Order: sequence, then C-alpha cells, then structure tokens
Amino acid sequence: MTRDGDVEGLAAARLWAASKFPYLATGLFGAQVSADPGSGTVSVDEGWRMRADPELTAGWSAAQLGSVLIHHVCHLLRVHGERAQGVGVRPDESPRWIRAADAEINDDLIPAGLDLPGQPVLPRDLGADDGLLAEQYFAGIRWAAMAGGGSGAGTETRSVSKGPGDAAGAWLDCGSGADGVPRPGQGQDGLPRWQADLLRRQVAQDVIAHGKRPGAVPAGLLRWAEEVLHPKVDWRAVLAAELRRAVAEVSGAVDYSYRRPSRRSSVTAPVVLPALRRPVPQVAVVCDTSGSMTDDLLAMVLAEVEGLLRALGLARQVRVLACDTAAGPAQRVSSARQVQLVGGGGTDMGTGIAAAAALRPRPGVTVVLTDGYTPWPGVPPKGMRVVVGLLGEQAPEAPSWARAVRVEP
Ligand SMILES: [Zn+2]
Repeated sequence: MTRDGDVEGLAAARLWAASKFPYLATGLFGAQVSADPGSGTVSVDEGWRMRADPELTAGWSAAQLGSVLIHHVCHLLRVHGERAQGVGVRPDESPRWIRAADAEINDDLIPAGLDLPGQPVLPRDLGADDGLLAEQYFAGIRWAAMAGGGSGAGTETRSVSKGPGDAAGAWLDCGSGADGVPRPGQGQDGLPRWQADLLRRQVAQDVIAHGKRPGAVPAGLLRWAEEVLHPKVDWRAVLAAELRRAVAEVSGAVDYSYRRPSRRSSVTAPVVLPALRRPVPQVAVVCDTSGSMTDDLLAMVLAEVEGLLRALGLARQVRVLACDTAAGPAQRVSSARQVQLVGGGGTDMGTGIAAAAALRPRPGVTVVLTDGYTPWPGVPPKGMRVVVGLLGEQAPEAPSWARAVRVEP
C-alpha cells in the first residue's frame, strides 16, 4: 500500500471539504488516507484510515472526492461500526446496514452541499423519513426483507454478491468503519480508540461552536454533537450492546471468517455465505462488594446483566464472583438472587479480574460491576474481553482498555 501523496487530487479535495464543512475539518485532517490500487472503492476502517482506489478517484472532481472523505468521517463520528455490532447486524446484512448508515449521514449533508459521486442513499430510497437513526432505517429494511418472502431472498443474494453498492453506485463499500466487519488486509494498527474518542469530542465542540450562527450547521449534525457532549444514554441499551459486541468478538475470534466477494468476480456466481459455527463463550461477572457499594444498586444491575445474558442464550455459562480486595469463590448461579455478596472494606477489581481469568473453563467475556473506586491493571487480561458497568453518578472512569458503561439508577 502507498501513502497520501499517491491519491491524486487529495489536497484539493481536502481543501474543498474543509472550506465547505469547516466544522468537520478536525475530523477530516484526523483521518489518514492512502492509495489502495485495485480495491475499486474508497473505504474507511475504525482506526480512522481511509483507503482509496486511485483509478476510481481519478475520475472524480475535488468536490466529489472531498464529499466522500466527509461522508466517511461521518461514519466514524457516528461510530457506525460499533453500532452495527450493537444491533447485531450479521455480516450478510452489512450491505443493508451500510445503506441505513448512509441515509443517516446523507439526509442533511446532501442538502448542505455534499456532492457524492453515483447515487447516494437517501432515506426516501428506503421508504423512510429524514432525520432518523441508522438503527431505525435498518429495522425498516430488515422488516421489508422479511416481509418480501421468497422473491426477496433472491434479491438479497444478488445484492450481497454485488456488495453494498447495490443500486447506490458501485464505489460504495464504505468499509469496516461503517459496519464493524473487518476487511481482509486492513491490519490492526490505526488510531487507538481513546484518541478516536478525543477526536470525536473535538469535532462535536467545533460543530456546537459553528452552530451558534443560525443555519451554519445542519440540524442533524447539531443533534449528534449535543448527544456526544451531553449523552442521554439508556444504560440498559448500551450495556446490552457492549455485551453483545464482546460476545460476538469472542465467539467470532476463532473460526468466523467473512470474505467480501471480489468486486471483479462474476455477480452471477452463487454466493457462499460463511458457515457460522460459533463457540459459545463463557461469561464471568465480577461484583464489587466493597463498603462503598450499595447492595440495592448492585442487585438491580446484576439482575439486568443476568437478563441480558439469558437473552443472548448464555445464562448457563455465567459464573459470578464477589470481590473486594480478594475475590471470593466463583459461584455458578442460575439467578442473581442466589449470589452471596460477601465483602466490605477496600477494593481491588484487578484481583477480581485475575480470579475470573483463572476460572476453568476460562471466560471469554468478563463483566465487572463496580463503583469505580478501585485500582485497575495497567493492561487488559489476555484473550478476555472486559465490560465494566460503572455504578453511580460519581464513578471515576474505567481503564481505556475496557468497554465501560455508566449505570445511573
Ligand atoms: Zn457510507
């Protein structure tokens, strides 16, 4: 792969984009762009790396390439990759999800001057109103596909084999930054998550600052910025999404492969979807039982976790550990009500995580429920995803290597 300079017209495209959408400039310049000859698309991954086929972009104006850059930055700002995993989008559905995500981006940026090549997806193409979220557009498409029955299945197979471009223009495989499904050869390095979060917050502040001038920023983007800076989250939904994502990552880590068919392969060839033989992950729940925790809150959240795991079909794989400075014995329980919360005193969730990691069979996912007043290990446990439920409004941050959800009663 080659660097920035090999994408002809990139500088002019960035200039166009930064002057047309100044409130997104920080994001625009935070993304790394490299040439990817023969890919037939311009895509982005969750590490803020864009890859562009120079042969494709050579035919575009500065406005068109600049618009594609802006469009992709918006996939990243709106964390479409994570959200796809959050709603449980299967790889064979990811072309549909990308259309839904595109509609969320395009509905107010196209009226604001975004000049995408091809036929970009708008909500009306999906039979929906403007101003909705990708999840809502996607639910509509999913429903329509199910209601479509037999003939619909054939159409879907074709659209999968063609890639997400579908009717929307052939360049449009927006990449793993749009659907969270890693593409072959995209590599691991890229912008670390914490830096991506900082960048997102910075852009949100820029959007709010520009938005003080009426009409300067599209309304949908202002709503996005407000939500980033002052999130009104439903912690149950976030916790469910995090758990589902962790479980999907663990069960997918072993033998789950999805190779996007080559754009050059015949579209009439039958499509073989990946065989989904997923190992069922073990789950551990580590409960902070130190004196600073209130039993009621912990019991409520534990019950919630139990319900979520049952919904994922994992209730039988769950073991619960009570932990203050030393982790208590693991209990295999069938109900949160059976957990004996021993403890009180100091806290070290590192001990609890180590105890979870020592269980056999080893859990692939560990949920830690804590008020956050605890030391944490400097590095994540090997081969285990950790989801932290931070209980109480004042809870300090969880370590950056863990996925944290703030639980507020
Ligand atoms: Zn897109």
